[in-house]
Amino acid sequence: MACGLTGTGTGTGTCGSSCYKDNNDGIEDSTNTFSPPSSTTLLPHMKLCYKCKEEEVINSTGGLCGICFRNSLFAKFKQSITTHDLISSTDNILIAFSGGPSSRVVLEFVHEIQQKAQKNSDASRDKLYPVFGVGVAFIDESAVTSIASDDLDNAMQDLRLIVSSLALPTKELHIVPIQSIFSTDLKDGRNKLNELLDTVNDVTGKEDLLCHLRMLCLQKIAFENKYNKLVLGSCTSRIACHVLSAAVKGQGYSLPADIQYIDARWKTPVVLPLRDCLAQELNLLCRLNSLKTLDVLDAPRSGINDLVSKFLTTLQEENPARERTIVRTAEKLIPFHFNRLKETKDTDETLPRRRRRKQA
Ligand SMILES: [Zn+2]
Repeated sequence: MACGLTGTGTGTGTCGSSCYKDNNDGIEDSTNTFSPPSSTTLLPHMKLCYKCKEEEVINSTGGLCGICFRNSLFAKFKQSITTHDLISSTDNILIAFSGGPSSRVVLEFVHEIQQKAQKNSDASRDKLYPVFGVGVAFIDESAVTSIASDDLDNAMQDLRLIVSSLALPTKELHIVPIQSIFSTDLKDGRNKLNELLDTVNDVTGKEDLLCHLRMLCLQKIAFENKYNKLVLGSCTSRIACHVLSAAVKGQGYSLPADIQYIDARWKTPVVLPLRDCLAQELNLLCRLNSLKTLDVLDAPRSGINDLVSKFLTTLQEENPARERTIVRTAEKLIPFHFNRLKETKDTDETLPRRRRRKQA
């Protein structure tokens, strides 16, 4: 049986599981549907995936093989999108890409959904099904971080390669320095940014301010390039961290607003399709599918955020369900009215039909 992995994007030609490991150098043979399952080649100590019952289980997947693990994550991602109507066919979305595993997976999954939508549109008789557009934004924070210029250059090269290697439809890449929110003159902007950051004495406050400025910069890119939704890679682990740190910082009132699938407080609404996936799962998927991440850009956290992050890692080691429990508990808080999108006149289903009727 073929592994069924689409093999889109950078280095995703292999499924990451042990399927075809010893079979034709990893080349799929989807026509041979009667070939014996690979379970026949399994050694006695190997366990079979509980879902497909054919491939060998991969560690830390909860009893799944590489293919079923990817499928289960993709299903969770897609369910968030469809249940909460996070992306519609007429949207033009901007993915905030930090280079970490979460945003890398968002890019991969969104690309897969977009490709399927494009195929459906091409296959339709009148080709009037709209396909949502995708852009990618990277905020260059080298003005405030100590990253070496060589490392940054290499990371930018990798970033361009990651985005350009995705198949059609083309995704525009926006690399924008964070200081551009202050001035079009980057040197002037850099001075203003550092001046502002210098007014904050504690490390936690400085980190939180930078996070806010990053969001302002993403909003600016979205507004100037006519994107109508901003997609973030915030996963369960990240949200659990935010729940604890917001409680510690006394930000309980606004907490329910920060942890929903949709946050329409911003001019361009923010959506979180990875809200139900753990960081551990996303890291593993990147490893299994050889999805390139820009680890060199990983800035260490500081102050309260760092303490909470380490505390949560310890909790998670003791019990892998902890992060989900924290988010599920926080979910009991009542969200605000802006945690849902305003209803649009044209829905996915009605739009093509209306256009067809007009044409007839
Ligand atoms: Zn399986």
